[in-house]
Amino acid sequence: MFGWLARRRAPVVLGGCNGCGKCCMHLTLVDRGRPIKQMEQFERLVAREPEYRFFRPMDARDEDGFIYFSCLLLGEDGRCTEYASRPSICREYPDPSMFRFGAQLPGGCGYYRAPERSFSDVLAEVQKEGNQAERPWWRRFTPQRLFARS
Ligand code: SF4
Ligand code: SF4
Repeated sequence: MFGWLARRRAPVVLGGCNGCGKCCMHLTLVDRGRPIKQMEQFERLVAREPEYRFFRPMDARDEDGFIYFSCLLLGEDGRCTEYASRPSICREYPDPSMFRFGAQLPGGCGYYRAPERSFSDVLAEVQKEGNQAERPWWRRFTPQRLFARS
């Protein structure tokens, strides 16, 4: 039950990409759940997953000490020059798990993080669904569902 609750509480990302390219300009990387703070971490990542070889460390870190990276494949027009074969990290962006590391979407990004419900809201919903499940099937329908016409 708690795994299910955790999934229900995972951040949700809505919206869509508007092609602004900001997420490619300076980014942080996570390796096996650990944000990269040391170059040795990054070198191990590239040795294991060569698709990361196009990222280059910048002489800057975020407030948590994570290294900022740039990407060699970013064109002057702000577009990816290898879009069709871009790394999986780019294909999956924005992965909701990024918020667990304190990452934020760049300003102007077409995606946005859906407001999260409080624990008490989720608990109330679980209890309500639990009560529904204990009822005979013919009593689980609300009148609106039972009589809805589409
Ligand atoms: S910052 Fe957001 S909108 Fe801009 S390119 Fe990246 S994903 Fe797309
Ligand atoms: S590979 Fe393409 S999509 Fe990924 S960071 Fe570089 S320019 Fe952006």
